[in-house]
Amino acid sequence: LTRIALASRPVGWPTQENFSVETGPVPEPGPGQFLARTIWLSLDPYMRGRMDDGPSYAAPVPLGGTMEGGTVSEVIASNHPDYAPGDIVVGRLGWASHGVSDGTGVRKVDPNLAPLSTALGVLGMPGHTAYAGLNAVAQARAGETLVVSAASGAVGSLAVQLGKAMGMTVIGVAGGAAKCAFVTDELGADACFDHRADETAKDLAARIAKAAPNGVDVYFENVAGKTLEAVIPNMAQHGRIAICGMISLYSGNTMGDRNQLPWIWRSILVKRLRVQGFLVGDHMDIQARFLEEVGPLVKAGKVKFRETVAEGLEAAPEAFIALLRGDNFGKQLVRVGAD
Ligand code: NDP
Repeated sequence: LTRIALASRPVGWPTQENFSVETGPVPEPGPGQFLARTIWLSLDPYMRGRMDDGPSYAAPVPLGGTMEGGTVSEVIASNHPDYAPGDIVVGRLGWASHGVSDGTGVRKVDPNLAPLSTALGVLGMPGHTAYAGLNAVAQARAGETLVVSAASGAVGSLAVQLGKAMGMTVIGVAGGAAKCAFVTDELGADACFDHRADETAKDLAARIAKAAPNGVDVYFENVAGKTLEAVIPNMAQHGRIAICGMISLYSGNTMGDRNQLPWIWRSILVKRLRVQGFLVGDHMDIQARFLEEVGPLVKAGKVKFRETVAEGLEAAPEAFIALLRGDNFGKQLVRVGAD
């Protein structure tokens, strides 16, 4: 067994030194458990929060503990009545070559539906997040204007496409010309602005205003920081903000020294905004509906998705740090074992 452990807690940006590679014997499945080998490991922004020791919606990874993460695995031995060797499962077996599970939080994957890696991306937790945020949380409707930040990413790319499919005007914000071109040309957004280019970043609010003359009805918020500051003044009366994430704040404050609370708070009041944070785990009731609707669209090639793949478990820390920097293009994965 090879696993990546949390060696120390980062201060600000994580570094390689915060992780260690550990080896040991492959575990035996106990009664009611199965053993699986990891094929794909998902890297996700929330993992930054698990590295910190502080109150959050989930317990931190203990020092020396295996980094948490979603996985696609093949069952190789089983004492569990519902799982047999050869089954492909999506679960949370962590940053490790093998894992043992009693089936809690595990779902079997149909290998004929789409490539296995999609169970961690467009047809997995991030896709479910986009679906839940847009439908259940923001209650987005045809004819409205939607802004999606981190628009080329795992969550954002499906939010953009679902918004277009339901007849919305969709504006993306993404880092770099290549990501922006993908968001408009491949995903179908009406516009996309590059928040990392000086020229577009300096007047992001004005550009959004031009692309959304009637205001922004729904903001699918993934990043906070400068993008949030540019969207808030453009929100329409009775607009909704679904707070999915705030990646620009995960490794330190990027909103400057000025206290932003008073004007943001005032905007919520005068525009009668509905601002709602959400966790995908609160929306398990619509997971089956999400898979029924989006699965066939992916299979038919009607929903596009992109992946960035790091090779081998040992590459996970560097790939994770790169994800936080925005170097990934689409869903960040680690290929741990053969398909
Ligand atoms: P992505 O695939 O979108 O990758 C993260 C992207 O964030 C980067 O590629 C980068 O894109 C962008 N980014 C990084 N730093 C900054 C910054 N300082 N300012 C603006 N953008 C930045 O990740 P996911 O799709 O997996 O996740 C997107 C968001 O959704 C995250 O905030 C995540 O925490 C959240 N999330 C929340 C869930 C929930 O249940 N609430 C579930 C899943 C995800 P770019 O180059 O375009 O800047």
